Amino acid sequence: MSIFTKIINHEIPANRVYEDDYTLAFHDVDPQAPIHILVIPKKEVAHLQDLDGETMTHLLFAVQQVAKKLKLDERGYRVVINNGADAGQEVPHVHLHLLGGTKLGHIHHQDRTHTAS
Ligand code: 5GP
Repeated sequence: MSIFTKIINHEIPANRVYEDDYTLAFHDVDPQAPIHILVIPKKEVAHLQDLDGETMTHLLFAVQQVAKKLKLDERGYRVVINNGADAGQEVPHVHLHLLGGTKLGHIHHQDRTHTAS
């Protein structure tokens, strides 16, 4: 069972901001921005490629709800998914990082190894 499933089941505490039948959103324990929320599916699926389209829709709907609740719409926010080893995914349960509350640094392309020149 993933650590996030334990949060869903209230076996581990978390600061929850939004919940519906399909998703849960809570504050990241180690925030990388003034606002750093994790949005996860209630079904435990490790990787994005194994997630069904309906659940993906519910995840983005949850992002909309969280952003609205935390009044992020006007200033904006970033949504990030670390999927798999190359992306540095640490928790094997799909999760969207919602980052905001400050002017975020631009994402620079540090590894152009596999991009066309
Ligand atoms: P990843 O690197 O897999 O994309 O991100 C995992 C995220 O989960 C990290 O930002 C980390 O801080 C967060 N995290 C890991 N364990 C816990 C936990 O028990 N509670 C909360 N709220 N966040 C966690």
